[in-house]
Amino acid sequence: MGNVNWAQDQPAPRRAIRMIHANFPQVRNLGIFVCRNIKGTNVRSAHAEGRALDIGLRADLPAEKFVGDQLFRTLIDSARRSGIDNVIWNRQIWSISLGGPRPWIGHYKSGALKNPHTDHLHVEWTRDGSQLQRLDFLDLQISIVRQGIEELATQQQSLA
Ligand SMILES: [Zn+2]
Repeated sequence: MGNVNWAQDQPAPRRAIRMIHANFPQVRNLGIFVCRNIKGTNVRSAHAEGRALDIGLRADLPAEKFVGDQLFRTLIDSARRSGIDNVIWNRQIWSISLGGPRPWIGHYKSGALKNPHTDHLHVEWTRDGSQLQRLDFLDLQISIVRQGIEELATQQQSLA
């Protein structure tokens, strides 16, 4: 890991957004590497090492919330095998250290308001996990989610 350039997008989040966007063209890539601190703190965000990904989905739009909820579940279920450390979506967080989903509301110790993540889903990899070139398990799970949503849409159309 000594020769990793952390000032750029890391392989795992790069791979993940490519596969998620291929399955769900409606999601927006809001960025991986961004040099910034966690809001209201002096702590470097995982984005500052290119190992966090923001997936643009709006929780106030039912169709996007549905996809976001399914992706949130799938990312949690795939976390251990995919090197994922934590996932935040729509006022909820899951992390490898504390489990969950748990409420993600209120303020940091600094007093800054926590971003509720109602307009994007944050996925963060561990440093080791971020170097994974392949995410085969996650890849499969995401295509299963897409197939499930497509089947649901077909059933709804045939009932209409
Ligand atoms: Zn983020």
